[in-house]
Amino acid sequence: MKWKIVFLLLTVILGCSKSDVMNQKSPKIVIAHRGASGYLPEHTLETKAMAHAMNVDFIEQDLVLSKDDIPIVIHDIYLDDVTNVSQIFPNKKRNDGRFYVIDFTFEELKTLNVFERFDPKTGKQVYPNRFPRGKGSFRLHSLQEEIELIQGLNKSTNKNIGIYPEIKAPEFHQKEGKKLSEIVLKILSDYGYKTPKDRCILQCFDSKELERIRKELHTELFLVQLIEFPEETKKLDYFATFADGIGPWYRQILDKKVDEKWTFTPLVSDAHKLGLKVHPYTFKADQLGEFSTFNELLEILLIKANVDGVFTDFPDLVVNFLNEKK
Ligand code: CA
Repeated sequence: MKWKIVFLLLTVILGCSKSDVMNQKSPKIVIAHRGASGYLPEHTLETKAMAHAMNVDFIEQDLVLSKDDIPIVIHDIYLDDVTNVSQIFPNKKRNDGRFYVIDFTFEELKTLNVFERFDPKTGKQVYPNRFPRGKGSFRLHSLQEEIELIQGLNKSTNKNIGIYPEIKAPEFHQKEGKKLSEIVLKILSDYGYKTPKDRCILQCFDSKELERIRKELHTELFLVQLIEFPEETKKLDYFATFADGIGPWYRQILDKKVDEKWTFTPLVSDAHKLGLKVHPYTFKADQLGEFSTFNELLEILLIKANVDGVFTDFPDLVVNFLNEKK
């Protein structure tokens, strides 16, 4: 009996030290990408409430400033592919034919209807099997309104679901004379998000801006550097000087299939060696790429490639997958 206890203790001790060094035994997190956006129009309060009910770990907010400096939760600096702006304010488009969030006050933005994402040229919805375009009654909202929804639901359901805000297009905001990062950090701090323990992960594609957020704006928040282009996967040493994690496109983790088995690029292991968490985007059950089922995609990336979390439009499916693995 005694040796069994010693063996168990050793396993626990070795297991712990290994997880500290390798930094990869922590629970994997589910991030609701633009909310439960596979089921309800992205970035509406309704889709965020649905994601909350699905027991995700974090809910994402993309942030763009209004004319009167309110951070709006919306994916693009444009309004015309998720709202009826072209019908309500036809004269407010710029010379490029597009409608910019930054040209509208919060009050004006609140008058728009939000729809399932569509192509403004053809009117066709991007994911045909999702919520029908033009149906329902949805509105844009601010970062503050979304934080109050999530914190309110955390209280009423006794959960501690986090937020995962993204600073969008910092260079564009600077050119327009706007201080998006400063405004967002102030709001986060006001709502209690100040340190890595506060269930808030801040993300950005622009590494100069994320570095500035750490080194000049002195935030202590957990920071994730998003990765778009292949050459950026070679800059992990630099990212590790200010970020706590990376958010690559999941295809950048997959190498190729050899004898029906996936091989992987060194991205995840290199990141883990630097102490960086890896949260790839975006896992969609209605856009499987080279995979035949959603569970196969999750098995290869979450388990075999050993990433630390995923951005997904279908949070319930990922939560179920992980629960079955326990
Ligand atoms: Ca995003």
